Amino acid sequence: MTVTFLGAARTVTGSKHLLEVNGHRVLVDCGLFQGLKALRERNWQPLPVRADSIESVILTHAHLDHCGYLPRLVAQGFKGRIFCTPATADLTRVVLADAAKLQEEDAERANRKGYTRHQPALPLYTVAEAQRAMTRLQPVGYERPIPVAPGITAEFINAGHLLGSAYARVRIESPAKTILFGGDLGRYGRPVLPDPLPGGSADVLLVESTYGDRVHEADDDGKHFGRIVNDAARRGGKLIMPAFALGRVEEILYWIHRLESRGEIPELPVFVDSPMSATVLTEYRERLAELDVEISQSVGAVAGKLADEHRLCAFCTAKLKVITSIQQSRELQESTSPGIVISSSGMATGGRVLHHLFHALPDPRNTVLFAGFQAPGTRGRLLKDGAKFVRIHGQDVPVRARIEAVDSMSAHADTNEIMRWLGTFDRPPSVTCLVHGEPAPMDALKARIERELNWTVRTPAHQEKIEV
Ligand SMILES: [Zn+2]
Repeated sequence: MTVTFLGAARTVTGSKHLLEVNGHRVLVDCGLFQGLKALRERNWQPLPVRADSIESVILTHAHLDHCGYLPRLVAQGFKGRIFCTPATADLTRVVLADAAKLQEEDAERANRKGYTRHQPALPLYTVAEAQRAMTRLQPVGYERPIPVAPGITAEFINAGHLLGSAYARVRIESPAKTILFGGDLGRYGRPVLPDPLPGGSADVLLVESTYGDRVHEADDDGKHFGRIVNDAARRGGKLIMPAFALGRVEEILYWIHRLESRGEIPELPVFVDSPMSATVLTEYRERLAELDVEISQSVGAVAGKLADEHRLCAFCTAKLKVITSIQQSRELQESTSPGIVISSSGMATGGRVLHHLFHALPDPRNTVLFAGFQAPGTRGRLLKDGAKFVRIHGQDVPVRARIEAVDSMSAHADTNEIMRWLGTFDRPPSVTCLVHGEPAPMDALKARIERELNWTVRTPAHQEKIEV
């Protein structure tokens, strides 16, 4: 039995882990590489094994760096099923449609404006190819083991990282082994999402290490975020928040609503400008039972009509407007009225937020606030690191707006939370592989696990194969 690390190996994107047992191949996650150009170029290369030799895919959650390569896999000949939780299936459809549309638009714009070295620039995949991949999705509820290939079963367990997110417990019949593919790990004691469930036992464990060397800002009940909102309101500018449409928008709205209702921030117009956010918000509202008990119980406590109203208002703010048309988005980009604009992509690598940044960055009254992880090479990372100019749509845009970050809203466990989760295992795995992290946090986490738990830890390189 072997596991080959085809992505998220000593980096944070492109999650793909190939399991090979007795001649059967199963791919766990099928994500897109993002960030640095050298990484993004890997998205154009075929996998080292034939796509039609992979029997099925196990998908841990719907973030693009875990599902965004699926259309390429299907285009290369993959014919199996993509197993995931029902919410992941729904969200993956939204994500892939959006990704394909953005890629088509980017290629079209690059060709029209001539800022491409490729003649012509092509999308990584088309909307039609994304739709073909969606037909392969096979939803399976949490904690229901299901055969994914002969002698291999998989079970999804809530990871608390995103609606529908899971880690996958994969059981091999012969030799009898359990491999736990960690996906992305959520956090403890946060609003909106539940805590990650205990790990139980595993012979081989893969666990993420995005924040392997960091402790998130202590939970300050929204104080830091509130200060930034108040400061932006005082300066009369806009507050632009690049945010993953998936997961982050919901938590940001939750906090704005909470701070508004306590009178800690003014009731500002809040615009959600991301084509997929409206759909994702609906998914969250319809699956409240899968969210944190605080949200699901408050809904259960009110009956009938009241419950419907509450359901509608989960993730509402006093002056919330979900932007639906390009025209509305343009008007908002050009407006200089104070307000909060939440728009994707979260690392400012594409999407409508680029247009907002293009207009907002040169004005010192404005604020740009990052609430999620910024991978190296992304505009988000450049801005966070203090860049004076960033290139957007072929132009250098001066950065005069205030750049802020809050990391208390992160959806990824920090080093203490990862250790806490590892503490839920009833015995040490024979090997623990760290994935989904930059080298520095990964190496720091490896040292910590070895020191505190005395487990055997490996940090596989790209395309490394480990024998189990
Ligand atoms: Zn994720």
